[in-house]
Parts: sequence; C-alpha cells; structure tokens
Amino acid sequence: MSTLLEINDLKTYFYTTNGVVPSVDGVSFSLESGQTTALVGESGCGKSVTSFSIMQLVNSPGKIVGGEILFKGRDLTKLNDREMRDLRGNEISMIFQEPLTSLNPILKIGTQLDETLLLHRKVSKKEAKLTSIEMLKKVGIPRAEQVYSSHPHELSGGMRQRVMIAMALSCNPSLLIADEPTTALDVTIQAQILKLMRNLKNEFDTSILLITHDLGVVAELADKVIVMYAGQVVEEADVMSLFAKPQHPYTQGLIQSTPKVEAEVDILESIKGNVPTPSNKPTGCYFHPRCPFAMDICKSEMPELKMNEQSGNKVRCWLHNSGKEVDLYGENLTYSN
Ligand code: SF4
Repeated sequence: MSTLLEINDLKTYFYTTNGVVPSVDGVSFSLESGQTTALVGESGCGKSVTSFSIMQLVNSPGKIVGGEILFKGRDLTKLNDREMRDLRGNEISMIFQEPLTSLNPILKIGTQLDETLLLHRKVSKKEAKLTSIEMLKKVGIPRAEQVYSSHPHELSGGMRQRVMIAMALSCNPSLLIADEPTTALDVTIQAQILKLMRNLKNEFDTSILLITHDLGVVAELADKVIVMYAGQVVEEADVMSLFAKPQHPYTQGLIQSTPKVEAEVDILESIKGNVPTPSNKPTGCYFHPRCPFAMDICKSEMPELKMNEQSGNKVRCWLHNSGKEVDLYGENLTYSN
C-alpha cells in the first residue's frame, strides 16, 4: 500500500482580537491509497479545520503556520493559488454535510456537473453532458436526464448529496474528503449514502478522508481511525482495534457514548464536561479535566503520541508510557514510567 497523503506536524492557527487560537495543534497522520481514514472527535476538536487546511481553504484570520501536507509527495502548503485550483475538484474533491451550501441554487444540476468536467478535462460540452448523466446514474439517481435539467431545490436532501458525490467523483479524484457527509440526512438515507460511498470507493479506487463525529459511520466505512481532541491526535488505530480495545480514555468515552443496536440500555454514558475552547486549553494533557484516570503528571505535562507495541495503536496518554497495552476496563490502571 502506498502513501497518498502525509501530514506532518500541521499547525493551523486563528489570529483573533482575543489572541492566537491554535485550532490544529501539531497534527500528523498518513492516508494510504485505496483506504478510508476517518478523523473523529467532538465538534471543535479541529477535524474540519484539518480538512480545510488540506484543501488550502483556510481563510483569514486563519493561517497554516507550520508543518507540511504531502499529497503524492508534493507539499500542498507550498503550491500557489493556480496550482491548488488545478488540484481541487480534479485530484482532490470534497463533499460537505449540507449540499445546498455547495450547490448553486440558481444553476441547473447539469450545468454545475458539466462545469467541473469542462474546467478540468479537455472535453466538449456534448461529452461533458454525457459523462454528467452517466455519473448521475452511477450514484443511483433515477431519471438522471430529468435531474440533469433540474434545480437543486427540486431535489430531496438525499438526492442532493448523491449529486454532490457525482460531482466530486466526476474527474475521478485520488482523494475524496467527506466532511460529515450523512449528518444532515435521515437514518434510512444515511445508510444508502454510506453504501453508495463504499461501492464507489471500490469502483473509482478513490481514497477517502472521512470527517465525522459519528462512530457508527466510522464503523461502516473506515479502515483506519484518527481520534482528535482539542486540536491534537490522541489515538490512531485500525478500525477493528479501535472498537475492540480503545486505548485512550477519550476514545473509550466516545465509544461508550455511541448507541449500539444490540444493547438494551436506557441511559448512554456521556463524557463529562466539554471540549476546551482552542483559546483556553488546560495545562498538561488537554483531556485531564474530563479524564477518570487523570494522575498528577497529567495536569502538568503533555504526553507524546507514541506507538503502543502491544496493541499496535498510537496513543497520547501517560497511562501508556510503559509501552504496554492498558486494560481500561478495570485492571492495571497505574502509571508506570
Ligand atoms: Fe487521562 Fe492522563 Fe491519559 Fe490524559 S494522560 S488521557 S489525563 S490518563
């Protein structure tokens, strides 16, 4: 498996009147070709700012102040506007939670689909139309020719998201960034869109960076999971290990607060407290005010993200300083240096 995207020590800060806000605070991870990598965490953890940084769409007062974003070996932070425009929609595409904000309400669906192809591919208008209709069919839109001539408001939310996926995949990008792609949809439509994305990923051989707060979506789609908290990566694992044996207390809290179909529970555990605001992070481990396992060292020193040799997960937590897998379910919860 080759590496498609490699992010090293990315820092994206916002310069506000109240001071500097480090939204993305030294994030590193990689995404392999043909895989789906999920960035998960509560809102405000920095996952969307990470995806906007990759697309070079962070606007003032935000700025990438450090690190590199290597896409097929090229550092995107060093590309000029024209070079980035060539990549966006062509090699890297993005879909969002609410397609209405990305679709132009006054232009027909077909016009918007054709535009992407005309911009990035040397095709005639006639070829663009044929390809657009073909893409609408591929994403499961019935009466594709009719939808091609419709305006966005004439379609349901699920259909609009299918149109966005068609548009995003029309130039066969190597990387699709999907930011909360199913959050605005009802449950049945969510399941259909997830199935569609899984099938299209295989058909188009596109890698997906999935941004979500929903672990149910992660379980459906992801191969690898990056858990973010307060602008940092706190755990990285393959999807099976993450759900079978979460190693970071925050990951464990997220999993415990996710409803399970098979479990009969009246009350879901939720993680106590809130994500700290990026401008007001605690000292030491950012999670310590909410962590049931916090020790003295956690309040003053930040742990590094380290490979846990036993579990194979990368974890940022003092409990893992010994390099041993930690049983967060009751035993051996002592700090060993
Ligand atoms: Fe909890 Fe300490 Fe680990 Fe942070 S470093 S997650 S406070 S045990």
